[in-house]
Amino acid sequence: MSNAADQLGHIRPWRHIERRKSRQIRVGSVAVGGDAPISVQSMTNTPTADAAATLEQIRQLEEAGADIVRVSCPDEESTAAFRTIARESRVPLVADIHFHYRRGIEAAEAGAACLRINPGNIGSRDRVREVIQAARDHGCSMRIGVNAGSLERELLEKYGEPCPDAMVESALNHARILQDEDFHEFKISVKASDPFLTVAAYQQLADAIDCPLHLGVTEAGPLRTGTIKSAIGLGSMLWAGIGDTIRVSLAADPVEEIKVGFDILKSLGLRHRGVNIIACPSCARQGFNVIETVGVLEERLAHITTPMSLSIIGCVVNGPGEALYTDVGFTGGGKGAGMVYLAGKMTHKQDNAGMVEHIVELVEKKAAELDAERAGAAQAAE
Ligand code: SF4
Repeated sequence: MSNAADQLGHIRPWRHIERRKSRQIRVGSVAVGGDAPISVQSMTNTPTADAAATLEQIRQLEEAGADIVRVSCPDEESTAAFRTIARESRVPLVADIHFHYRRGIEAAEAGAACLRINPGNIGSRDRVREVIQAARDHGCSMRIGVNAGSLERELLEKYGEPCPDAMVESALNHARILQDEDFHEFKISVKASDPFLTVAAYQQLADAIDCPLHLGVTEAGPLRTGTIKSAIGLGSMLWAGIGDTIRVSLAADPVEEIKVGFDILKSLGLRHRGVNIIACPSCARQGFNVIETVGVLEERLAHITTPMSLSIIGCVVNGPGEALYTDVGFTGGGKGAGMVYLAGKMTHKQDNAGMVEHIVELVEKKAAELDAERAGAAQAAE
């Protein structure tokens, strides 16, 4: 393995996360649960009936790295457009259905890889059976999505308010309906906007059932606060080994949800995509403008998908130490120049003026090397 941070993960036991053993299901081409990588999802917010606009947003999400995308199907016009959207999408799609069992059947027929549907909310047992049959016929899995804001009236009366017990009971009631029909290709989410409630509900659910869990803190809020809330909620569950697929819910561009989702997984060493930039906050000792440089580098390196690390540190106080564990490093050193490190070793001096271009070149070169190494290893394994 070439990434120094990855190597550390294997020899430092305190970095190890033991994932809960869930059974595996499929969302189209993406495996969810078991030992499958934790997938990152988002949801379109265009009118689904506008297939072109929805597809354009799906493309943006695909480019940002989305593994799965959810699309709402509130009416027949939407499920009709869903057929075109599913045909053109490169990532598997989850059709979001509320109450209308016909929309579920239509979406399965139109190419949905998964239905987000609560079987207890779609009416009679016959209707449930029809939806399950459509899912079976079209290789569709399901997600039961319990939300603290829309719990069943009986459960609210029984428990007095949304609480972990009520959310888990709701989830298990829906799950039982599917299990009674011998349908086991489902995952569950129990989301709340309060991270405490969310985490407690997932912890309880994780012990009660072995299906994969879709994590999310729902309606987390705008970009900054929503990201923090999600990082705390999702981060603590993932750290405890809970979670097989994640969706960060932000009142922001859905592309941001994918970026934040990957950043949470990257911070926990659970998944790597793109350049993990380690940078100091900077202070009077900085040998160059760290904040401005990191901003530019983040943009210039956004196209790299190869997992690798880069340290950009203002001075020698922390620069050499951080560079030890990164693929490429730069440490400011005064007199308008700094030192470049490759795989932890100091290799040469570089003027601050040409530093951004030089670092971009080095990172691109390293990414190409790592890709070639990985391709070679995959070929050898075959
Ligand atoms: S590494 Fe140097 S420049 Fe960066 S914050 Fe620390 S002391 Fe300041």
